[in-house]
Amino acid sequence: MSLKPKPLPYSFDALEPYISKKTLELHYTKNYKVYNKKINELISGTSFEGMELEEIILKSASSEMDIFNNAAQSWNHDFYFRGLAPPVRQEISLTVLNRIHDSFGSVEELKKEFFKNSMNHFGSGWTWIVENIDGSLSVHTTSNAEHPLLHHEVPLLVCDLWEHAYYLDCYNERTNYLSNFWQIINWNFVEDNLLKTPLLRPSTGDKFMDGGASSDYLA
Ligand code: MN
Repeated sequence: MSLKPKPLPYSFDALEPYISKKTLELHYTKNYKVYNKKINELISGTSFEGMELEEIILKSASSEMDIFNNAAQSWNHDFYFRGLAPPVRQEISLTVLNRIHDSFGSVEELKKEFFKNSMNHFGSGWTWIVENIDGSLSVHTTSNAEHPLLHHEVPLLVCDLWEHAYYLDCYNERTNYLSNFWQIINWNFVEDNLLKTPLLRPSTGDKFMDGGASSDYLA
């Protein structure tokens, strides 16, 4: 049983003018699908065959770097594509807004943090918005295939910082790519990831005992 590539949830031209049809088509068919093909070749006949991608990432991380790299890159690309949506005006839900406010103060501050981390990241990698185990949200980058799942973080959104994600559209101007990316974030996807997280949460009892600064989102 092989790991089938996930379909792109929109057409190749759906993210224009922010990401061109050419870039998206190449990114999906030449990068994502190749990682998917490689991971299937690498796990064929091994104990990893038949596992879900997340399980492969977790179990290969300390021992099988080739498998880990291709599994993580395959997972990241699918997550990246699903984190984007065609540029129709999308409201950020109150649930997500409250969580952003708790951790960053405002969406504008989150955006600044996201841009700062992305611009300071040297070389290829990924910028993540994650939920930490204490329920707070944070932004950080990873290099190569280092992955939030290994740090008990729940990924909410990711931006691909490899140049193939933007070179055709923006040349080496990562900042222009980030501005475009920000216009087409699928905030519903962020919300879905937040709501399905099975993480430890402060109980409502804690809220009354400590004044509730860290658990306002339970209200
Ligand atoms: Mn990529």
